[in-house]
Amino acid sequence: MLKVYNTLSRKKEIFKPVKKGEIGMYVCGPTVYWYQHIGNLRTYIFSDTLKRALQFEGYKVKHVMNVTDVGHLTSDADEGEDKVETAAKKEGRTAKEIANFYLNVFKEDLKKLNILEPSVWCRATEHIKEQIELIKTLEKKGFAYKTSDGIYFDTSKVKDYGKLARLKKEGLQAGKRVDLKEKKNITDFALWKFSAEPGKRQQEWPSPWNIAGFPGWHIECSAMSMKYLGKNFDIHTGGIDHIPVHHTNEIAQSEAATGKKFVNYWLHGAFLEYKGEKISKSTGGLFTVSELEEKGFLPLAYRYLVLTGHYRSPLEFSLESLESAQNSYKRLKNIIAELKNDGKINNGYLKKFKAAIENDLDMPNALAALWGLLRDEKAEGKICTIKEMDKIFGLDLLKKETVSVPAEVQKLVEEREKARTEKNWKLADEIRKKIIEKGYSIDDSAQGAKIKKI
Ligand code: AMP
Ligand code: ZN
Repeated sequence: MLKVYNTLSRKKEIFKPVKKGEIGMYVCGPTVYWYQHIGNLRTYIFSDTLKRALQFEGYKVKHVMNVTDVGHLTSDADEGEDKVETAAKKEGRTAKEIANFYLNVFKEDLKKLNILEPSVWCRATEHIKEQIELIKTLEKKGFAYKTSDGIYFDTSKVKDYGKLARLKKEGLQAGKRVDLKEKKNITDFALWKFSAEPGKRQQEWPSPWNIAGFPGWHIECSAMSMKYLGKNFDIHTGGIDHIPVHHTNEIAQSEAATGKKFVNYWLHGAFLEYKGEKISKSTGGLFTVSELEEKGFLPLAYRYLVLTGHYRSPLEFSLESLESAQNSYKRLKNIIAELKNDGKINNGYLKKFKAAIENDLDMPNALAALWGLLRDEKAEGKICTIKEMDKIFGLDLLKKETVSVPAEVQKLVEEREKARTEKNWKLADEIRKKIIEKGYSIDDSAQGAKIKKI
């Protein structure tokens, strides 16, 4: 039985799906105005592990991910510039080009990290109609009001506003000192923003409020998740920074519109940190997957690093810790490459692994079960058990490394083979030295020469 920690109840709960055998899971996706850094990607590795665990348990998972290509402003308080519009201006490209470019890079990164693709990708700009419909419903039910710059959600109309983040009503009152402008309550948020100067923005749409505009950030996730998964669905995930504002507001507006419980299980991933703080432009550590590759790291070594921590604990990142994760990962693969398949399953270790997974995705203990199996000299069924475990680890543990050898090295390898068949050992040895100088090692096996990068 799978247990997960539900942010809503602050407890580990036994997971029970809405529909038998099938799960609806919504993962807050990227805002596509820049590269997703390895911190963002930690959160997607976490939701991927969750999805894989659910599939392992026999569920069919409908996984929906949004793409925020409009409406996310530089400040969470519904002010400032639209991130995608700003990037478009800065890079001299259209908003659509910017969104497409960064979405494609993100999809490449997902592949490199073995993160399974969602069943449904949905873009905010392609669901304007659904968002307007939802806002109209909220207006009709008395939860929305108009100001000079948009349509806002009245959080004071919701009795349990802030339940996810456990926001205290008194704390919200303290906000009275803040300049509310035309907002009625500090926590009220924009559902729809009017363009300040219609015709100037690249992305704006006609609206029932007679002024062209664009949706607020939170409404897209409510409109699209409910469109694809229904008014009440199983799981919603994201990083912990989404708890107090984005997810809190998603719950308020969805439940106000439908009168039903929105999501049953809310799961949140803790941050990847650098020098004790959330990775950000100012603290550093803001690498992309490609940058790590340029430094000689394997993307899956990063996945391995992420799996060494529990998703609810902050994970401290450094190039040194990645280096040591990469060493462990390579050692793991080397050990596995030498194993023989006896066709059996090792139920003892598989049970330990499953117990760790089912205990709120305890990946560090799941990895300990894998290492335990490998270190146990008497253990049987290693290959088939590892194959099962890797369905959740997603580390390509059984995939043989194909080393891509540069053409000049390949030529040397062939020349050496020729020298060996001619029994010219001296020449063969000289060529071997040249190969090593170029950074490759060569081992002669019964199946022929094996080349490895040193
Ligand atoms: P964004 O593109 O800003 O909407 O962020 C995408 C996802 O990354 C969200 O779920 C965030 O909560 C998450 N996130 C942002 N920074 C970090 C970090 N340093 N560590 C882990 N997750 C993060
Ligand atoms: Zn979202």
